[in-house]
Parts: sequence; C-alpha cells; structure tokens
Amino acid sequence: MQNLVILGATGSIGTSTLDVVARHPGKFNVVALTANCQADLLFRQCVQFKPRYAVMLDEDAATQLRERVLEAGLAIEVLSGAVALEHVSILPEADTVMAAIVGAAGLRPTLAAARAGKKILLANKETLVMAGNVFMDAVRVSGSVLLPIDSEHNAIFQALPRGYNGDLAGNGVRRILLTASGGPFRNTPLGELQNVTPEQACAHPNWVMGRKISVDSASMMNKGLEVIEAHWLFNAGADDIQVVVHPQSVVHSLVEYVDGSILAQLGNPDMRTPIAYGLAYPERIDAGVAPLDLFKVATMNFAAPDLERFPCLALAYRALRAAGTAPAILNAANEVAVAAFLDKQISFLSIPRIIEAVLDTLPVNAVGSLDDVLGADSEARRAAKRQIRQS
Ligand code: NAD
Ligand code: MG
Repeated sequence: MQNLVILGATGSIGTSTLDVVARHPGKFNVVALTANCQADLLFRQCVQFKPRYAVMLDEDAATQLRERVLEAGLAIEVLSGAVALEHVSILPEADTVMAAIVGAAGLRPTLAAARAGKKILLANKETLVMAGNVFMDAVRVSGSVLLPIDSEHNAIFQALPRGYNGDLAGNGVRRILLTASGGPFRNTPLGELQNVTPEQACAHPNWVMGRKISVDSASMMNKGLEVIEAHWLFNAGADDIQVVVHPQSVVHSLVEYVDGSILAQLGNPDMRTPIAYGLAYPERIDAGVAPLDLFKVATMNFAAPDLERFPCLALAYRALRAAGTAPAILNAANEVAVAAFLDKQISFLSIPRIIEAVLDTLPVNAVGSLDDVLGADSEARRAAKRQIRQS
C-alpha cells in the first residue's frame, strides 16, 4: 500500500489522480486531500476515499466541510490555511505527495515534501520555475524520488536512459524536443488576438485543464514555463531544448541522441497516463486511457514555433538565460496578468506586454534561499499590478 497526499485534489490533475487511484483499490491509500475552497467536491472525495486529513485553504470552506464530515460520521480531521498544507505534505505516514496545486501557492508545500524526502509527483511546474535550484537541492539532500507529471517531461523522463544522472552529453543526448500543441490560437489571424475572450482562451483543442494553465497554453507561456521546468529536471541548457509545435498532441515529447535516434513517448492526450506512470513507477498500471489509434491519427505535423505570435515563449527563454530571480519574476508577472485577463481587466495581448515591462523594470538577483525567491515574487506581483493599473 502506497500512502498518498494529494495537494490540489479538486483540480483537473487532482481529480484525474483520484480516478486512477480508484481503479486500483489494493494499491493506494489516501491519507490527505487538499483544496482551495471547493468544499462540496472535497466532501464527496472524502466520502469516497476516506482520508485521515482534509485541508481547505479557505477558513469558511473548512468550517463547512468540518460540519458535513461530522454529520456524515467520518473520522477525518479537517484543517485550514497554508500552514496545514505544509503539515500534511510531511506527514510521517505519507509516502508520496502529488503536487497539483496551481501556481506559486504550490511552492511551499511541495518544497516541504521534498525536504521531508517524500516521493514527489510533480505537476506544479511553477515550483521549478520559481525556485528550481532551491527545490532540486532539497530533492538531492533528502534523496526524495522526483517524478515529472507534466506530460512532456514525463515523456522525456521515459525517453531518457533509466536512472539518468543529469549529464545529457555523457548519455549521448544531443537535445530535448519539447512538443507544444500551439493551443486554440495557433491559426487565429493576428489581428483577432486583441479581442479573444477568456472562454476562447480556455477552450483548448486537445486537453481539458484548469483555467490558468489553459490561458498559459493559449499564450504559449505554458511552453515557456515548461522549457524552464525541463532545464531544472534534466540539467539542460536553453540551447539544449527545442520547442516543436505538434498540433495533434499525441507525441508528448522526444529525446534526440547523437547517433541519429530520436526516442519519443506517444499516447492519447490524457493526463491519467503520466499520473499512472508516476503513481506506479517503475511498474505500469492501467490508467483508464484508451490506446492511441494510430490509424485514426493518420497524420502528424511538426513545425517551429512562431515567436511573433507567441512572445511569451521568447520571454521565458529570456528569463531562463538571465537566471537567478528572473524566472520567478516572469512567473509572478504572468500569474497576475493571467488573473487580470480571466477577470476581463486586460486584453489577451496585454499579457506579454505586462510581463515584458516587469522583466524590464526589476533587477535580477542571485537565488540563495527560498526568501530570495519569495521576495522577487512579491516585488514582481506589485510591479505587474502597477502595469495593469497604468494600462
Ligand atoms: P486546477 O485549477 O484545475 O486545480 C488547482 C487545484 O489547486 C485545485 O484543487 C484548487 O482547489 C487548488 N488551489 C488553487 N489555488 C490554491 C491556493 N492558493 N492554495 C491551495 N490550493 C489551491 O489546476 P490544474 O489544471 O489541475 O493544474 C494544477 C497544476 O498542474 C498546475 O501547476 C499546472 O500547471 C500543472 N499541470 C496541469 C496539467 C493539466 O492537464 N491540467 C498538465 C500539466 C501540468
Ligand atoms: Mg505540459
């Protein structure tokens, strides 16, 4: 029995994780579930999975959940607040932590799990973007097993040699090819991008995801964050990572070797595949995903990304090359800009403009500790909000 903590249980990744868990009753035991404020859904998950702990970030939602848990006669301790998220991430009885909170809010509990030596299934890419060196150091020191859940990184992990040691050249790797669907606006006339709505941005052609990552996919900032994520996971430089636009989203990424071989992982675009891989690693279990029908796919296309259409991708490469606090600044400015877009305060095209202005304004410092990261994050959020007010 593997004891699981699921951070962000009510989200797209969280619910897909529980779907896989439910298919394997003898294998996994849920010890804690967490969510922001969706008390109804977390209650239903509590009834089904009977965790020892349930955490709601929101105090009122926790009160609601506590009452319902009591009424239902469930032996579940309901906690609230950000500290409780860290508390359940390091429970002695927990083996594995699924890090599936969205955004910077996922950083502290995910880092706590790494410091405690838990096996980490990492969906929250923002942790690596913001605090890559702090987090990877924690993983090394504690000896925790880190498995990427982001589909591209999971594919790369599968295509690299087993036990890959962080030395691309030493393993005969020429470069990493990171695939991107191109999102809903891949072919939208440039003149129409100014007026696209949050609903259009969230209607991804291939993947069903939370709203923040859906907007990131539409702007291709998601791919930019993933380039930085790949840098930290695989010790790859900016020049070692090539983004490849592949609209069918069935090749989840590839590794190119010096002998001319390219190894790829393919499958239907369904996050339960990488989640099941992480949960059962190094074994394979049923994920509930239909096999990929190659005859139905029939054609696969590949193209270079269009940086004029997707300036966010270029901004992410810029932040990766600038290093230090630059990726944390990029991430924070992006989170603020995306929230403002979803709130209909700014246009879609303002997202890269705001991020660029913030990157132009703020100094880049070295990262020695978590505080350096959190300082840059707050400063960038303030700068992004100033930009929004002025726009
Ligand atoms: P989502 O919005 O569907 O779910 C987010 C979860 O986090 C919810 O359970 C929510 O309650 C919780 N949450 C939100 N804000 C919080 C806060 N401030 N404090 C604590 N909990 C909070 O998001 P998602 O699409 O499941 O994505 C989760 C993470 O996984 C993101 O980092 C995303 O980039 C990454 N990811 C998602 C996918 C996907 O297919 N959805 C693919 C790859 C990577
Ligand atoms: Mg991805």
